Order: sequence, then C-alpha cells, then structure tokens
Amino acid sequence: MLRIDKLLANMGYGTRKEVKKLLKAGVVKVDGMTIKDAKTHVDPKAQVVTVWGEEVEYKPFIYLMMNKPKGVISATEDAVEETVVDLLEEEDRIFDPFPVGRLDKDTEGLLLLTNDGQLAHQLLSPKKHVPKIYEAIIDGEVTEDDVVAFQRGVVLDDGYETKPAELVVIRSGLRSDVRITITEGKFHQIKRMFQAVGKRVVYLKRIQMGPISLDETLEPGEYRELTDEEIALLK
Ligand code: URA
Repeated sequence: MLRIDKLLANMGYGTRKEVKKLLKAGVVKVDGMTIKDAKTHVDPKAQVVTVWGEEVEYKPFIYLMMNKPKGVISATEDAVEETVVDLLEEEDRIFDPFPVGRLDKDTEGLLLLTNDGQLAHQLLSPKKHVPKIYEAIIDGEVTEDDVVAFQRGVVLDDGYETKPAELVVIRSGLRSDVRITITEGKFHQIKRMFQAVGKRVVYLKRIQMGPISLDETLEPGEYRELTDEEIALLK
C-alpha cells in the first residue's frame, strides 16, 4: 500500500503539491470512489485508480540513492544476510527496486537503486565507461609509482589488466588516504588493484557514479529519491 499522492506524483501527474490540487478537485477515483485525501493509502496492483476518468497505468519508475552502510549486501533478497532492499520502506519496496551494480558487504557509500532496467544497463555497460569515484584508506604508503601503475593498468590476480584509473594521493603515510576513479566494475576491483601493488584496502566508500554524487547529508543506511534534475542527468 502506498499514499495516493506519492503514487500519482511517481506516475508523472505532477509534483506532490500539484497532485494534491487534483485530489482536491475531485478528479481522482479509486475503485470508482472519489478520493480527496492525499494520505489515503491504495494498493495500485489490486485497485483501479483513475484521473479524469482515465485509468492510471501502473508502471512507475523509482530512482533512489542510498548511503550504503557496512554489513549489508547489494542484493534484493537473501536467506541469511540483510540486503540493501531490506533497508527500504515498504512504500518504496512496492516498486521492486534493485541495486544498480554491487558494492562489497564492507564497502560504504553511493548505491543507486531503481526498477528502470534500461537505465541500470546503461550505467553498468562496460561499453559506456561510466566513471565511479571512491575514497579509500590504504594500509601502507601509496607512492607516485602506484599512481603511474594505476594510470597504465595493473594486472589482477586472474591475469586481467585493468583500464587506466586515476589515483589521487590525498595523504601518504603508514596509512594513506586516496581517491580513485575507475571506469569498469570487476569483482572486488579496487581491493584487487591495490593487492596488485602489494597494498591492502582497509576502508572503501563510493562517492560518485557517473553524474551522481553521494548526498553527504545521508547517514549510512539512509536514502532518498533522486531529484528530477539528477534523473535528467542520468538519461
Ligand atoms: N571495488 C572493490 O574492491 N569493492 C567495491 O565494493 C567496489 C569497488
């Protein structure tokens, strides 16, 4: 069940404010009954919603950004582990969103969730080279040689040679703070890239994916819908 104003806003009937006006005008019906209260909950899969007498086709897209916390897996469901979809409110889960790609269980940060398969495919397609930016803490001193190696490409444990990646050393020491941009998404890629130069990632957080940056006001585990501007940037 979800609120009628949210449903109609999601389906492109305007902002929540505009949708409230439609409701007030008495042009929205649920199973033939006029509904004026924006807080009314409906089940769009089981009930017939009409606006101006026209049936609302239930095919809304949803676009969410989450600050993924550590300890949850990037999947829709799992028999044992808690998943990112488990962290969503019921009224968002009803749209069947799934994570766009994966972050490791112990990785934090920006994770997009959507039910728009085409958009997800575009973001994940290796051909599109969508840049993904991460902040990381590395056990060991990250050097200029590492920067050059990442720029050239390093050979992972399975023999795969990575595409050029940008490594920026923010602070070098026994533990180093770095920022890294990759345009591909191999399994454990960043951890394995550092392994290739003899170092270990101790903390990893994604801060950007393509044109979308993590909203730093989101605490780990929190999420919000993308704004219309953010959605436009993705399309
Ligand atoms: N690289 C990794 O090693 N882990 C992630 O979660 C993302 C990129």
